[in-house]
Amino acid sequence: MGLIEKYRDRLPVLSNTPIVSLEEGDTPLVELKNLIQPFKHKIKLYAKFEGLNPTGSFKDRGMTLAVSKAVEKGVKAVICASTGNTSAAAVAYAARAGIASFVLIPSGKIALGKLSQAMMHGAVVIQIEGNFDDGMRLVEEIGQNGELEIVNSVNPFRLHGQKTVSFEIIEQLGYVPDFHALPVGNAGNITAHWMGYSEASGKSCCFQESVGCYEIEKKPFSNDRPTILGYQAAGAAPFMRREKISNPETVATAIRIGSPVSWDYAWNVIRESGGWFNECNDEEILQTQKLLAKTEGIFCEPASAVAVAGVLKDLGNDKISPGSTVVCTLTGHGLKDPDIAIARSDKPHSVAANREEIAKLIKGYI
Ligand SMILES: *Cc1c(COP(=O)(O)O)cnc(C)c1O
Repeated sequence: MGLIEKYRDRLPVLSNTPIVSLEEGDTPLVELKNLIQPFKHKIKLYAKFEGLNPTGSFKDRGMTLAVSKAVEKGVKAVICASTGNTSAAAVAYAARAGIASFVLIPSGKIALGKLSQAMMHGAVVIQIEGNFDDGMRLVEEIGQNGELEIVNSVNPFRLHGQKTVSFEIIEQLGYVPDFHALPVGNAGNITAHWMGYSEASGKSCCFQESVGCYEIEKKPFSNDRPTILGYQAAGAAPFMRREKISNPETVATAIRIGSPVSWDYAWNVIRESGGWFNECNDEEILQTQKLLAKTEGIFCEPASAVAVAGVLKDLGNDKISPGSTVVCTLTGHGLKDPDIAIARSDKPHSVAANREEIAKLIKGYI
């Protein structure tokens, strides 16, 4: 079952909204026991592995709703700017809906897996000589005449779809976590998580009305909200600098954003939840990506690892009290960016196709 069907009464859909779905959502919540075991500071750490959505990232949650609403409205095509995963989701859902899609991506700064997705689904892929922020500005200008539906996270339906991740976490854990950590790029997802936790607990959050589009079910099924922790890559950390930056740089291309679309919303989330922002450098991000893969069998993309890297860093500062339950959103799958994974791992051994040679090699390890 897709998430619109599952959470229909909590989403802005009408009885005649055509549902465009790839059965997204319902992703695993995995406890990271091995990873946290060596740390003195004892917490219960979980990963919500959003890389297991149909196109390999959480963007599918927003896209099922955004594309469904675009089809309801009768538009012929969707358009977005993207660092990769938004376009991967947009083109897949557009293909499913039988409408055209246009994507603007930064030339040369997109992970290989994501580029292959944009190309595979029959979208018009436009590589611009500029970064995500330039692409976003152009999309807003081009989308103004109403012929094309913009499916970036300025589209409120994206946030409504993405808020369902919080509903699932409460259902899977059976309670509300104390902390929720996630990577922050455009800050749509941190906003959506807070909307979800707020709606689940029957509490209002300060931007709900501006994002809200329809009267939707508000009956609470939880009693509290977590503290929200937003983590950025050090070279692309406008929230840490407290101002937008013009040349963001990081290996975590999904969060290589200097001018976040949901800037005000994200500050409100941090204030209302009593949370904070922090940053990790590229080396910390890649080490944590590797740690997740080696100790837990979970392969996420670099941007996702910043959530776990940030929590491990903040454990050292004692900001997260022992015994707390902390959930990290792992936003995208590691296969999105195979170049990084290969560059950061030991090279395969080259040996003859010979039993003795291989036996000798194995002996060196056990
Ligand atoms: C889009 C994306 C992010 C950033 O989410 P925002 O809503 O832009 O803050 C983080 N990680 C991955 C893998 C993404 O695709």
